[in-house]
Amino acid sequence: DPRVNGIKTKIRVVPDFPKPGIMFQDITTLLLDPKAFKDTVDLFVERYKGRNISVVAGIEARGFIFGPPIALAIGAKFVPLRKPKKLPGEVISEEYTLEYGSDCLEMHVGAVDKGECALVVDDLIATGGTLCAAMNLLERAGAEVVECACLIELPELKASHLLPYHGYPLLGRDRLHGKPLYVLVEYL
Ligand code: 5GP
Repeated sequence: DPRVNGIKTKIRVVPDFPKPGIMFQDITTLLLDPKAFKDTVDLFVERYKGRNISVVAGIEARGFIFGPPIALAIGAKFVPLRKPKKLPGEVISEEYTLEYGSDCLEMHVGAVDKGECALVVDDLIATGGTLCAAMNLLERAGAEVVECACLIELPELKASHLLPYHGYPLLGRDRLHGKPLYVLVEYL
């Protein structure tokens, strides 16, 4: 799709952020371009419209930028998956391993009903740990995750140095419970 190249050129790469050696993929420059931002949302909407998805789950924080416009356009609810202690109601939690230490995602109890079909949205997949935790939350609530969607995928060599420990599959997409991952841009 010709729109993908336009999107790609709007993603800024910031070296050594947030620490030395990391090439940070900055999507805020994409948001400054209304056409590229709209094309991004449209590409996801075209893929997911009419597929019976009733839940779009967005991962804090950049999944909150792309998830809601997709949810509105396909007629689904939006469910925020948040960092610990942000959601006021009763939650379920999933811890996941990072390069150093661990992190956690939480979801409100009652946000998702058993048997609902869900799409998980984030800006970027590296090791896949974040998306895997998100899928666990939805599946614990009885939802079926149809697919995960990201703007950017860091391929094997770029992500491998982020892997928290040996024994994980090398590609983040291989950790997604056998479910498909849809990405617009592969960072090379
Ligand atoms: P993973 O769990 O797959 O290793 O990392 C993905 C998570 O880290 C996503 O929530 C994503 O927003 C964040 N992340 C890691 N590296 C980058 C990056 O270079 N750019 C952006 N925008 N997000 C990143």
